[in-house]
Amino acid sequence: MRGVYCDGSSIQFRRDLPDPAPRPAEVVLEVCSVGICDTDIQLARGYMGFRGILGHEFLGQTGSGQRVTAEINNSCHACPSCLAGQANHCPNRTVLGILGHDGAMADRVCVPERNLHVIPDAIDDREAVFIEPLAAAYRVGEQVPIGPETALTVIGDGKLGILCAWVARLLGARVSLVGKHPEKLALAGVAIRPILLDEAGSIARSQDVVIDCTGSKTGLENALRLVRPCGTVVLKTTVAGEHSTSLAPIVIDEVRVIGSRCGPFPKAIAALESKQIDVRPLIGAEFPLDRAEEAFRAASERGARKVLIRV
Ligand SMILES: [Zn+2]
Ligand SMILES: [Zn+2]
Repeated sequence: MRGVYCDGSSIQFRRDLPDPAPRPAEVVLEVCSVGICDTDIQLARGYMGFRGILGHEFLGQTGSGQRVTAEINNSCHACPSCLAGQANHCPNRTVLGILGHDGAMADRVCVPERNLHVIPDAIDDREAVFIEPLAAAYRVGEQVPIGPETALTVIGDGKLGILCAWVARLLGARVSLVGKHPEKLALAGVAIRPILLDEAGSIARSQDVVIDCTGSKTGLENALRLVRPCGTVVLKTTVAGEHSTSLAPIVIDEVRVIGSRCGPFPKAIAALESKQIDVRPLIGAEFPLDRAEEAFRAASERGARKVLIRV
């Protein structure tokens, strides 16, 4: 079959990949569309040493023609973490297209049947690709109280930053989005206050919650400047490299710093189905699977909107 193969340092579009063999309790899906995420671009450069087929944001079809997507953590459901309700932290897990399991940038993909979510008709193929990153944005609301009294800032005007800003707004917060690109800040819409990074001093030490979605080493440092004493900083993106930020402000200002990864798919599906969140402005180009290498180049350009691959 065709697919996008990552060899640990680069990616290739290939036609000679073996058909995926389902592991126990897995089903085979025909893939319809896949999104390229910043994690895919990092993986293609060697992050995590992943070898295999990429792709974890996708829409597929079951043998009976049902439109589905799947959660990406393939957990054992038997270990203490799983039994304690933290299957996303299962030490035995594989992660679709990221860790020890082939992903969905291919004609077919295998996923555990229990990870499937049916996609309502009101969500089109392109929107469905955003369910996984939108679920990740909803995760913050499970970890930190966010409501009408919350002054919340997202740093980073990329796709995940904008999704986090939209979710926080839906939860009632007063939301600012800090970034370097006026045109990307504008994509977030009028309900989100845009602030250029150079001008972020105007909200210094005032924010209850600051979410770092920059994927950059300076993200934490900037977040610590904006959060109020006893506020919370949420780290939403991994940085391939080392931080050299001084941690003293965390102690002095008694700031909580928490990590945040995968989130609830049902909330993301409900928000897209009810049109409370419209992700279409975040979509850039769409490429057929045969032109996946070109799609990766487009997705790697600075400020690129979401690039989709049509299978
Ligand atoms: Zn992703
Ligand atoms: Zn487990």
